[in-house]
Amino acid sequence: SEVAKRILRSLALPFKIEGQEIFLSPSVGVSLSFEKATPSDLVRQAGIAMYQAKREVKELLFFESAMGEEAPERLKLESDMRRGIEQNEFMVYYQPKVDLQTGKIVSMEALVRWQHPQRGFVSPAKFIPFAEETGLIEPLGKIVLETACREAVKWQPKTGEPIVMAVNLSAIQFRNPNLVEEVNDVLIRTGLPAHALELEITESAVLGDVNATIATLEELKKLGIRLAIDDFGTGYSNLGHLRKFPVDVLKIDQSFVRGMTGALDDTPIVEAVISLAKALELHVVAEGVETAQQMEQLKGLGCDLGQGYYFAKPSSSQVISEMLKQKELS
Ligand code: C2E
Ligand code: MG
Ligand code: MG
Repeated sequence: SEVAKRILRSLALPFKIEGQEIFLSPSVGVSLSFEKATPSDLVRQAGIAMYQAKREVKELLFFESAMGEEAPERLKLESDMRRGIEQNEFMVYYQPKVDLQTGKIVSMEALVRWQHPQRGFVSPAKFIPFAEETGLIEPLGKIVLETACREAVKWQPKTGEPIVMAVNLSAIQFRNPNLVEEVNDVLIRTGLPAHALELEITESAVLGDVNATIATLEELKKLGIRLAIDDFGTGYSNLGHLRKFPVDVLKIDQSFVRGMTGALDDTPIVEAVISLAKALELHVVAEGVETAQQMEQLKGLGCDLGQGYYFAKPSSSQVISEMLKQKELS
């Protein structure tokens, strides 16, 4: 534990990356064996202890056999996900984004859903991080992208502005060197015009190697698609970098929208993000709009689009098809 503490102390110092101070919150797992454990057993057990420490927000934990259940549980989830992908248990739901001035649906966000035969409905907030850890996000992400593009083709109006289909891209997918080619292939296979596809990338995914980020974003832009920064305001972006990113849309994180009516009024933040977006000539979308009051307030502040339960919950493609026939919401 003394060595672990020394490691923790040195990792607790801030790192400077491209002028920004980065703080880590490291955790250490330790495993001891007085019996005949193999080196790989020891490493695996130390890993289990480390994950347990993270969950308990502790710096240091020693492996105990009671933690041993964790590994099979993870393995089970992983094999479940693999099976689920093969058996088409993953579905794509869609949530409209509405023009706050006209009340018209102008785009959709594709949101993946897992209908597990025993566990029931599993939230993406739970399985996306796991899919990222295991690499399963790649096959899953491809299914979502392809399904959403196919659906979007059906929803395109004969004339006028396209209905834009927004698909979330994980940081792992964003760093895949074949990403641009794969997106292009999907566009060709499904016949969706590039300008009707938008990729949502979280603010935290574009942090890191700025030059690599810009290069990837530029290549994606060359395909003619649109790019959005998701959950904006939660990832401490460098605003100087943001200006260099060839993106089209900023999505204000739903925590700020909720905060507009909270005890600590977040309206100034929402207002500032909208002004920033305007100054950078970006469209701005508010996520998580739940009430008429929030909608009116956002409209008053000049926000372009709104998305949230107030307009519509994420729904199956059948439900959305019906909704599109009516075309106008609110
Ligand atoms: P996100 O991209 O920021 O998506 C918005 C989340 O807010 C969705 O949660 C949506 O259902 C929820 N939401 C929409 N309107 C409201 C509202 O009025 N109030 C509240 N409280 N929530 C609202 P969901 O579907 O559970 O997805 C959670 C996150 O999982 C997404 O956040 C996204 O980061 C990720 N995700 C979902 N589908 C995919 C996917 O296909 N690929 C990847 N990489 N990530 C995905
Ligand atoms: Mg999103
Ligand atoms: Mg978001």
